[in-house]
Amino acid sequence: MKRQENLVVGEAEIKLGDTLVPYVIKRSTKAKHVRFSISVGKGLEVVIPRDYPADQVASLLYEREKWILEKLQSVAETAALIKTAREDAGSLIRYLGKEYRVVVILDVASPMRVELDGDKAYITLPRRSEELLRQIIEAWYRWAAKSLFEERVKMWAERIGVSYQNIFVKNQKTRWGSCSKRQNLNLNMRIIMAPLEVVDYLLVHELSHLKEMNHSKRFWSLVEHYCPGYKRQLAWLKKYGQSLTI
Ligand SMILES: [Zn+2]
Repeated sequence: MKRQENLVVGEAEIKLGDTLVPYVIKRSTKAKHVRFSISVGKGLEVVIPRDYPADQVASLLYEREKWILEKLQSVAETAALIKTAREDAGSLIRYLGKEYRVVVILDVASPMRVELDGDKAYITLPRRSEELLRQIIEAWYRWAAKSLFEERVKMWAERIGVSYQNIFVKNQKTRWGSCSKRQNLNLNMRIIMAPLEVVDYLLVHELSHLKEMNHSKRFWSLVEHYCPGYKRQLAWLKKYGQSLTI
């Protein structure tokens, strides 16, 4: 197989296996080593140190062919998941790993509400409005998250033997949770879309910080004690976390 490449300073393409892979070379004054990264938005990026010759990048890419192709594949899967999640917004409610198709009921006389029944989410609205639908779905997630967190956090805190002050429900883009020195828990409401085992892992993780305020070996063995399958839950979050959008 003949390997081709068009090396342009800055941007280029390289043929790896049967795939033509575009990549960007960035020169960094801070970088000490060549770094490779592959992400949903940016694709393949190579950061090279100031004095590193750009024409040597291609041979490094050939060496990492297997890693690059595998990573591109998993990034493409993530991108597809995010796209589906966006298309589903407003037409789907996800709760504890289950999907509920939204059915809008127009009723001017009733208060707005969301009811999950079977595989449907019946949403009562006074008039047809995308904006109103979005608002009530978000309010429902916040309410459902608060109820679930209060119940599960209480249970896990008793088992682990820690006490906490307040639970704050957040809607952050990138963080699932945190725990403050004042023993307050900040939890991302979008996690309730994930299966219960994943929610429980997050709660055990944050509550374990009340005993170990770090990510030491002792911390992880504490997490593992209460949540033996935690590595599976971490892998789930890594794969599907970004697709949990409202
Ligand atoms: Zn942590």
